[in-house]
Amino acid sequence: MSDKAHQVCINPDCRATYSLDEIIFSCSKCKSLLDIVYDWDRLAVPRSLEFFEHRWGTKGRTAAGRLDFSGIWRFRELLPFVPEDSIVTIGEGRTQLEQNDPLARHIGMKPGKLFLQYEGLNPSGSFKDNGMTAAFSLAKRLGRTRVACASTGNTSASLAMFAHKSDPPMQGIVFIGSGKIAYGKLSQALDYGALTLQIEGDFDACLRRVLQASDRLGLYLMNSVNPYRLEGQKAIMYRVLEARDWEVPDWIIVPGGNLGNCSAFGKAFRELHDLGLIKRIPRLAIINATGANTLYQLVTKDGLRWNGGRYDRATISGLYAAMDESHYLPHTIASAIEISRPVNLPKALRAIDIMNGLVREVSDDVILEHKALVGKYGFGCEPASAASVAGAHMLFDEKVISPGETVVCILTGHVLKDPDATVMYHMGVDMKHATPPPQVTPTGACSNSPKRVPDDLEAICAALGEK
Ligand SMILES: *Cc1c(COP(=O)(O)O)cnc(C)c1O
Ligand SMILES: [Zn+2]
Repeated sequence: MSDKAHQVCINPDCRATYSLDEIIFSCSKCKSLLDIVYDWDRLAVPRSLEFFEHRWGTKGRTAAGRLDFSGIWRFRELLPFVPEDSIVTIGEGRTQLEQNDPLARHIGMKPGKLFLQYEGLNPSGSFKDNGMTAAFSLAKRLGRTRVACASTGNTSASLAMFAHKSDPPMQGIVFIGSGKIAYGKLSQALDYGALTLQIEGDFDACLRRVLQASDRLGLYLMNSVNPYRLEGQKAIMYRVLEARDWEVPDWIIVPGGNLGNCSAFGKAFRELHDLGLIKRIPRLAIINATGANTLYQLVTKDGLRWNGGRYDRATISGLYAAMDESHYLPHTIASAIEISRPVNLPKALRAIDIMNGLVREVSDDVILEHKALVGKYGFGCEPASAASVAGAHMLFDEKVISPGETVVCILTGHVLKDPDATVMYHMGVDMKHATPPPQVTPTGACSNSPKRVPDDLEAICAALGEK
């Protein structure tokens, strides 16, 4: 199988090729990112997307039934880099696309036009499971037994879960810094038994050290420079299409952090289109938080474009030098996208090119407002996820999205990942440090704080609107 897929440098002036067996996370000639590229002519590709429907009913103890049950591997012909008996799957990717009319109405859109893709419904509570199942499968095939990442967030939660659920189990190793940590996520890494190293340094230090340690000790690296993770994340788009009876929407809107997800979406649609499985490619909107807006700066402000892979590297190094000079640190309540040097930046530029995409930024206040709306009208999400809905709202107000268009917002993580942010928004205080809770009036338009009532039935009934 491996001679029908390769790792290929994305730089058009290099295009160095590496076999799948080579453990390498950037081109050894030019340092660019790598892609997984398939020799589709020699692979069995379904002639239409309807092909995948026959797998819906299967859940079984058989090997094929296990793969059909997964929302990633039921599309295995579209990510054929690993033999079926190496696949590590725990039933990830069984997520849901919801048509949400109340939310559509709230932001001025017509009913039937706004859809929410709940990736928080994955086993570890975020979309990261889509990519982990793919990268773990390759790790298993290569006989790796120790896997590592630097993350204080959903990557470490997902890695820790897949490590102990693999057969045989692998050792999950998580490097965390001494910065801020959402307890929902850290608690998962600890509970799932990952060996957690708290480094006396920030996230950048962790990433640097995990790269060095992986090199020296042969740990298999699971940060999103790992191109197999993006192969798995393509399936999010397959499921969006599947839920719409294979009808392509007009817009895909996604928060942008390290830019792996949007990159995977671009690759998914490029391949589907080239294979003749779809006729049209949707547009892409990537939403940054204002406090971590590197992509917005580069693309929307500075006009940086993919340009066939010959993008203007000086624009990027200029921005990074200015950030260094001012000791810039990203800062946003949406911790999952609090990233200033996104590793997948070139691939994101390519995705913007493929999908006629654009980039916007939204403030933390607007993010929290839209998070509360997703909670009020849907199943909720974590702060970073709500950036997509805030972005949809903004683009609709700007008339970039027109009323007749269909919009899919990716909700990347579960509402319980970061309960502190939710409680802070609704109650206006950090409850963990408030004893007794002070009576404050939160200022958010959607705040829903508890009413204080004496321990008295009459007062309780009065508070409930009865005489
Ligand atoms: C990782 C993550 C993101 C950012 O995704 P990228 O692929 O890094 O852009 C957004 N939201 C949540 C909840 C995440 O866990
Ligand atoms: Zn190269």
